[in-house]
Amino acid sequence: MKVPLLDLQIQNEKIRSEIIEKFSSVFDSGEFILGKEVEAFEKNAAQYLGTKHAIGVSSGTDAILVSLMAIGIGAGDEVICPSFTFFATAGCIARLGAKPVFADINLEDFNISTGDIRKKITKRTKAILPVHLFGQTADMSSVVKIAEEFDLAVIEDCAQSFGSKHGGKQSGTFGLAGCFSFFPSKNLGGFGDSGLVCTDDDSLAEKIRILRVHGAKPRYFHRYIGGNFRIDELQAALLNIKLPHVDGYIRNRRHNAEIYAEELKNVPQLILPQEIEGNFHTWNQFTVRILDGVRDEVFQTIGSSGIGCNIYYPLPLDAQECFRQFTDPKNPTFNAAIASKEVLSLPIYPELHPDQILRAVKVLTNALPRR
Ligand SMILES: *Cc1c(COP(=O)(O)O)cnc(C)c1O
Repeated sequence: MKVPLLDLQIQNEKIRSEIIEKFSSVFDSGEFILGKEVEAFEKNAAQYLGTKHAIGVSSGTDAILVSLMAIGIGAGDEVICPSFTFFATAGCIARLGAKPVFADINLEDFNISTGDIRKKITKRTKAILPVHLFGQTADMSSVVKIAEEFDLAVIEDCAQSFGSKHGGKQSGTFGLAGCFSFFPSKNLGGFGDSGLVCTDDDSLAEKIRILRVHGAKPRYFHRYIGGNFRIDELQAALLNIKLPHVDGYIRNRRHNAEIYAEELKNVPQLILPQEIEGNFHTWNQFTVRILDGVRDEVFQTIGSSGIGCNIYYPLPLDAQECFRQFTDPKNPTFNAAIASKEVLSLPIYPELHPDQILRAVKVLTNALPRR
């Protein structure tokens, strides 16, 4: 039995006719840029997230980039982000000429350590960019408190956390802006690249809308140096079909996580991911820690037995070659380094069959050296 890390065919097959019909209607409309479907998607997404504004953009990366541009991040500024995340989080900071300052993570939830945020604040710090990694929100109650204390902006990287909650509140609604991705592997997976920024701030929303079209308003009169950060009309149309299904997808992910938790609970060589109290985890990834220094060989073994799995992420950002100019090799992010040596993400996509999960569990437990 094959157990792929991700298989979107089943999910997409169920809505095939609606998707094809929508494709034709956009085709017939001849309207491909910022039309009715984008407007509808922004309205639907804002309603789902409970925010005043939602702005469709070209990718999750661009959602972060345009949000940082909109709050004026640039040369001389520092932005604190976790060391253990996807590259784009910090890449956007550095691309604007600012300095990414890497905070360590907690090993309990793989999210930014608020204790370490405090240690890394300087007079140049302008913003905190927490990531809700693997579908679980960071400790936003504390992040918001620190931000208020030091007068910092908070921009949330919600690429992996569409639908996740902290204290009953949606991820993306704690800071000034929330940045989502609809890359196919995310909780709301599109048909290519796209993303979204949500915010309750009217003037920030207006500025992001202007930056999205090269900073021009009206057209050809450029107030800012923006870029092309638009979501495609076709993409928005297809996402309008998928959005009503997202809670069902999340329910299935949570169910799959429960099966793993039950089946793996007595395996001493593993540390299982936990849902922190007060959080609603959407399990974009189910990421275990493999102890005893055997993660790489276990990864090889189970991969060659037809179980899709992957290492998110094998090298902390503060150890990346391209960020060397910003980091102090004598003072690395310790937990991020441990996580990158121990983590392994297992298949958890919504349409996974329980038998496939049991198969993955069996292959994984057999691959672990006896203690
Ligand atoms: C996927 C992802 C991004 C980037 O989103 P794209 O849509 O691929 O540009 C940013 N941050 C994190 C944590 C991600 O997982």
